[in-house]
Formats: sequence, structure tokens, C-alpha cells
Amino acid sequence: MDVEGSEEGIRSFTRALQEEAPENAEIAEVQTSTEPLFGYPDFTIRASAAERGSANFLPRDIAVCEDCLREFNTPGDKRYQYPFISCANCGPRYSIIKGLPYDRENTAMSEFEMCRPCAAEYRNPGDRRFHAQTDCCPDCGPVLKLLDAQGATVESSDPAAMARKLIRQGRILAVKGIGGYHLCCNAENPSAVQRLRKLKRRPHKPLAVMVRNIKAAYKICTISDQERAILTGSRKPILLLGKRTTEYLPEAIAPKQKRLGVMLPYAPLQLLLFSDDLNFLVMTSGNLSGLPICYRDRTAIETLGTVAEYFLTHNRAIEIPVDDAVVKIVDNHEVLVRCGRGYAPLTIPLKSRYAVLAMGAEQKSSVCVAQNGFAAVSQYIGNLNEYGAYRTFERQIEHFKGLFHFCPEIVAHDLNPDSLSTRCAKEQAGRKIAVQHHHAHMAGCMAEHKLTRDVIGIVYDGTGLGTDGAIWGGECLTGSRSEFKRSAHLEYVTLQGADSVVKEPWRCAACYLFALGLDPPGFLPQINSTSLHAVQTALQNGIQCFESSSMGRLFDCVAALCGFQGEITYDAQAAVELENLYDTNISDCYGYRIHNTENGWILGYEELLRNLIRDLQNQVPSSTISSRFHNTVAEATADCVGRIREKTGLEEVVLSGGVFENTCLLERLILKLRALKFKVYYNRLTPTNDGGISFGQAAAACAMIKEKEYVSCNSGQSNQTE
Ligand code: ZN
Ligand code: FE
Repeated sequence: MDVEGSEEGIRSFTRALQEEAPENAEIAEVQTSTEPLFGYPDFTIRASAAERGSANFLPRDIAVCEDCLREFNTPGDKRYQYPFISCANCGPRYSIIKGLPYDRENTAMSEFEMCRPCAAEYRNPGDRRFHAQTDCCPDCGPVLKLLDAQGATVESSDPAAMARKLIRQGRILAVKGIGGYHLCCNAENPSAVQRLRKLKRRPHKPLAVMVRNIKAAYKICTISDQERAILTGSRKPILLLGKRTTEYLPEAIAPKQKRLGVMLPYAPLQLLLFSDDLNFLVMTSGNLSGLPICYRDRTAIETLGTVAEYFLTHNRAIEIPVDDAVVKIVDNHEVLVRCGRGYAPLTIPLKSRYAVLAMGAEQKSSVCVAQNGFAAVSQYIGNLNEYGAYRTFERQIEHFKGLFHFCPEIVAHDLNPDSLSTRCAKEQAGRKIAVQHHHAHMAGCMAEHKLTRDVIGIVYDGTGLGTDGAIWGGECLTGSRSEFKRSAHLEYVTLQGADSVVKEPWRCAACYLFALGLDPPGFLPQINSTSLHAVQTALQNGIQCFESSSMGRLFDCVAALCGFQGEITYDAQAAVELENLYDTNISDCYGYRIHNTENGWILGYEELLRNLIRDLQNQVPSSTISSRFHNTVAEATADCVGRIREKTGLEEVVLSGGVFENTCLLERLILKLRALKFKVYYNRLTPTNDGGISFGQAAAACAMIKEKEYVSCNSGQSNQTE
């Protein structure tokens, strides 16, 4: 900005800029310098110039604002009930951007030429729609369409009213939103919900509910003031809320869960789906189980036509798919569970001398680019072993490169050479840096909290290749963002089976039982003994066996011992159901042992499991067993951390990894560590699960470069514009 005026005027302007910035503005830093007086006659916004080497800022998608909502609800207003109403303070951004700078011609709105009244608003500095790139009205903007399952237009003067009628009749609709399609049905209609589950091939994973307004949200969940602010704010994520004890909605929406994912309408189009007798809608990502969200009209019809009976769609394109973000409150702080619309891309300060591209993990993939002092982390992409997700992943990398004029000099990837993200890294230009998975978790959490001194990093998760070739996941690391030592870990157990050991928790239990010299059939009555014996034979012959210190697998083992049957149908289902058995009234725990070895402390499982099995034999309720188990893991971890402090003097503890999605465990551990006077940090801005790995890899790589000076780095390639 060029600002002219009296010294005092400029000072107060600079202050106001920061103190009175609009809700959606984010000011990272203000730098001022004095320039010769130019004598501007008026206030103008100049056409943006494509900037090279700019910071990685992209505007996020913003939920419909109060002002627009008022117009939307005012009969006679030119945008009354117009599903694409927006202004300079709201509307889609990231999801419709084709290039930077963020101007209309670089967005999906370039298809729509503004009518004269809209253009006048756009040019008027006094108008709310001054420079609003998404400005449009029924005369010049996108229009709604209703299609049948084959994609043929259903003639209707009011497609939204027709859609409401169909939803009321129990039909399943695909609705085009901001970052992709949703599958939608009446949440109060149990048979519609069941049918949606069956057709989407999603038997158990909780479904998100969109509520008509905040009043409706109170009917189904308990909501604190902090939670209310998130629900009604400008990002409108899916918020995980505690269900009311008398369930208002069918159990099938979130079976065996104490929490429910709830969001408010954020696209004006979604407001049209509700009515006085339609207050709760299932709004789940428009995809088939495991595949990425559909966002192109033709693929949506091809893919979702088997589930949706109708499509409520429109002619504004979505440029980049963005799922809804998922957040929750932990320890009185908002925590991001899945990065998506409204949050993506995350912009986080990160010092780097080079342009760094980080490839993320194979599961819950995301990518991160870091240059010029900031990292941008993409939305959740999915599991790369699904072809569609892999394609989206590749496209996302190219999209970032194009938007940020970004050319990677350093490519950070996982240590595991077989990981698909590592394979993709090999195809990128730039120097490769491998980052161990759990170190990436720790480094990401450290960078998020700007920690630069050595810390203790507790990283509990499912799977990650360790430096010794074993599968890690119950790790107490010590070190910095650039290097680490393994100070303690969960005792190794031999697990059998490649992917099946993750999918079938009883296999974990069987392996642990064998390790303890116990006979699995006695403890896993729900599993047939032939399967158990097959595992035993394979273990004895060393077929597909590997050493594991994974905390995630220990949770799976205990979940199976508590009765979890068969295969999981969504990620970490067994552990999630175990957490839902947790009873806050039970505070005792099992005995456990920590062994001191030359390789650090080893947290043993034998004592713990033998105690737990005694409870099982005494038919102690599984909620008690679950609670005692959670308490023990928290207690034993705090114990380990205490021992490490005695040896190292480190007082700052970082908690990261997918297992800490378990709020019960995380909150217990935070309390215990604080009681021991530790400074405790956990992921808030980035997901604690593998969605945060790309940022962690970038953080680790940046720190490694700083310390090691990669002279051979090809810096000539930096920031070239095409
Ligand atoms: Zn608005
Ligand atoms: Fe992980």
C-alpha cells in the first residue's frame, strides 16, 4: 500500500490496519518504509501484478456472511434466495482459483460477465462488493440445475424447492457445494440414512450432519460458547461435538460414538435445502468409500450416479477439490483434525533458505511448499494407494507450483523408499532429503509452536518405518527439528501379516497373546480358531513377520480383546470404538514396567496386558478395561518422560502422531505432564495424524539444510516464472 497523509494520520492508519482488520484478514507482519510524496488524487486499487517469489498466501473459502445472509432472506432484494450470493467478505476463493493474483479472470468466475449493476458495485469503493471477485446476481451469475441419476435435466422452475421435496421423500441427492459434491439425505429418516450407507459402501464411519441453524444444533449436541463460535464463524468446519445423551437423530449416523460431526450451512445454496420440517441433513463427502471427493460435474454423475437419485448442481466450476475441514476442542483449544475448506491452504511461518516441497505421508496425504518465510499446507487429499487420490496428489503439487511460481530446490520425503509419496519425490527436480516419519511428526509440532531448543517428543501412531528397519509408532524421541535420538519406545512385538494386521485388529491381539505365551482362542472367542492357528503357524515360520513398537497396534490389540470383531471399515475404527468406551469416573490404572536398556528405556507391555487379561477373565466391564488401559498408557508415558528429564534436563514435551487423535488419551497425558511441571505442546494448526506429516517434513528439512549447508543445491532454479 502507498499511504499519504500527516505523520499522525499514517500512524493511526497503520494501527487501525492491524487492530480493526476485517474478520477474515490475517496480517502476518507489517513493514513500513518512507517514500517520496506522490500526491495521489484518490483511493484506487491497482490491477495486481503477477509477483515472483511472493509469500505463499492464498485466500481461503469463506462461508456466507451475515450481510449476505440478510439480503438472501429479504424478499424483494435482487439477490433474494440467490444461491450464489457473496461479497468482498465471503464466498468461495481457494476452490475456484486457477492462478494468482486472486482476480476474477483467474477464477472460475471468469465465465460470468458482470451485468451493469453488479459492475457498478464492483467499482464503488463504498460498496460491500467493491472488488469482490465473486460478485454476481441472478441476471449474470451461475444458475442451479436439477439432474436425474443419468445426468438428464429435470425441468423445474425452482430446482431448490424440488430438491427439498425429494429430500423430504427420503431420496438421496448429490449436491454441488464449494469444494466438491456432497451426498445428502434427511438425517431424521433412518431408512434414508441406511440406504446412503449401503450405497456409499460406508457401513460404520460416522456421517457429518448439517444443521439448519445453531438452534437446531443445540437439539442434538451439547455446545460450549467456544464451540458455538466455531460453528457460527466464517470457516464453518465440521465440528466434533458431544451428542446429547438422549439421541435425537438415528444411531446409524454415528454408531458407537459419543461425538457427532456437525456443521452449519456455509454455501448459500445449502440454505435452500432446509425448511421448517427439514432441519438436519446428512452431508457426507460425495465419493465412494476411500476415493477422493467428486468435484467435476461429469465424473460426479458417473461416480455418484449409483448412490444419488438426483443431482442439485450448477455451472460454476470447482478448480480444486477441497473436502470439509474437521475440527474439535481439546484442552480448551481448537484443534484441526482434517485440513479442508475454510482452512486450506494452511499458512504457517517457517524459515527456509530454499524452496522446499514436502511430499507428506502415504495415508491422509497432504503436500507442503515452503519458501520466503512461509509454508503452505494443502488440504487433505486421501490415501495415495487409491489411484484417484494419487492423481489428485500429483495435480495438487502442480497446482501449488503454478500458483506460487514455485520450483522445488529441496524435496523432503519419507524414509520409506516404498512409500508412494517417496516414489513421487524421486520424479521431482531438486535435492532429496529423507525424513523419518516420527521425527517429521515431532518437527512439525515443534515448528507449529516455534520451538527451537531440544525437546522430548512423544510420537504415538500407527505405522512408520524406523531407522532400524522395524515399524515404529510408540516413540519417545529427544532432539531438535534437524536430528533426534530414540530415548524410549514401546517394547517390540512380532506382528504377522502385511496390510491385514491393520485391517483386522484381532491379528494384533493374537500376536501379542502368542508373545505372552497365551492361547489366543481362549481370549478371542469372536474369532474362529482356524484363523488364529493360521496366524500362529505363520508366526512360527516367520512368514510376513515384522517387529513393531506401534502404539496404534497396541490399541487395536486391546480393542480386539474387549470384543471388537472382524475387519475395520474405516481408519482406526477399533481404537476409536475403544476410546468411546472410556469412562471419566474411572481413574485407576494397571501395573506396567519400564526397562532400562543400552538402547534407552523400553516400555514393556507384558505386565500391562497380563493385568488387563485378568480383568477380562473376571468379566470386568469393557468400559472399565478401556478406561484403565487409557490411564495406564498416559501414566506410563508420563513416567518415561520423567525419567528422560532426569537424564537430559529437557522440560518441553511435544505430543504428536495419529494415536493422539484419541482425545481421552491426549487430555489425560497433558494433565499428567503439566502436574509434573512440564511444558506441553500438541498439534493445533496442523493435524496430529499423518495429515500433518508434509509440514513436519518441511520443518525438518529446513532445519537440516540450515545446519548442514547444502552447497551443491541447485539454487539457480529458484522462483522462475514461466
Ligand atoms: Zn457476504
Ligand atoms: Fe504417523
